[in-house]
Parts: sequence; structure tokens; C-alpha cells
Amino acid sequence: MPCVALIAHDDEKPEMVELAREYETVLSAFDLVATGSTGERIAEETGLTVERKESGPIGGDTQIGAEVVEGRIDGIVFLRDPLTAQPHEPDITALLRLCDVHDTPMATTRASAEYLLDGLAEEAGVEIA
Ligand code: PGA
Repeated sequence: MPCVALIAHDDEKPEMVELAREYETVLSAFDLVATGSTGERIAEETGLTVERKESGPIGGDTQIGAEVVEGRIDGIVFLRDPLTAQPHEPDITALLRLCDVHDTPMATTRASAEYLLDGLAEEAGVEIA
């Protein structure tokens, strides 16, 4: 099954939870990995099981980047806050770069996330709800 990484900046966490709820059936067929607080919110507010890395600002994005390098990640939904400066901007840039290097699909908005999840589901033969 595909492995999907889920990351959301603080302002975007409600949107991520809403997306996870809407796509719960699809996501429950995937392996899920998330940065710390995003994973906690998803686990608490949906029935999904999520492997949690460290929180983004202390290295979670970098841990997910390492998994991209290892070829474990099939897609990333990264809902970024476009209006707030992040202390770990260099880590975020590195993750984007690694996705470019390894041609790992990354969606950074709700609409593109839906295309990404629909595509991975179709590829894996998972029924789209
Ligand atoms: P968080 O990290 O899920 O631990 O909040 C996300 C991020 O800021 O990269």
C-alpha cells in the first residue's frame, strides 16, 4: 500500500483534519506518517492510525525528508501557511528540494491534495469514497 506523509502548519491543521475526515476511507488503506502535532491532531480527531515523527520545528520535516530519500514515501500532503514565517524554513525548503530530486509527488493545497490522494488511491486500486 502507498505510504503518505501528512504535514500541516498550525493555521492549516483544521483544514488537514477536515481533509483526513473526508478521505478517511482512502487514507485508512494507506500507511500514514506525519509530523508530530499534525499526526496527533489526525489521530485524535479521526479513526486513522498515524506514525508520528518529531514536531516539524524540531526536525519532523527532516525525518520525513529522510524517508523520501529512502524511497518509502509515495506522496506528501503538506498544507503550508503561506502568510506566516516559519522558524524551520530551511528544513521545509530541504523537504521540497528532496521531493523534486526524487520526483515524489507533493500537494501543498487542499485542491491539489485531493488530486494526489485520488491518484494514489486509483493506482493502488483503493475504492474512492
Ligand atoms: P507539526 O509540524 O505537525 O509538528 O506542527 C508541522 C510543521 O510545522 O512542519
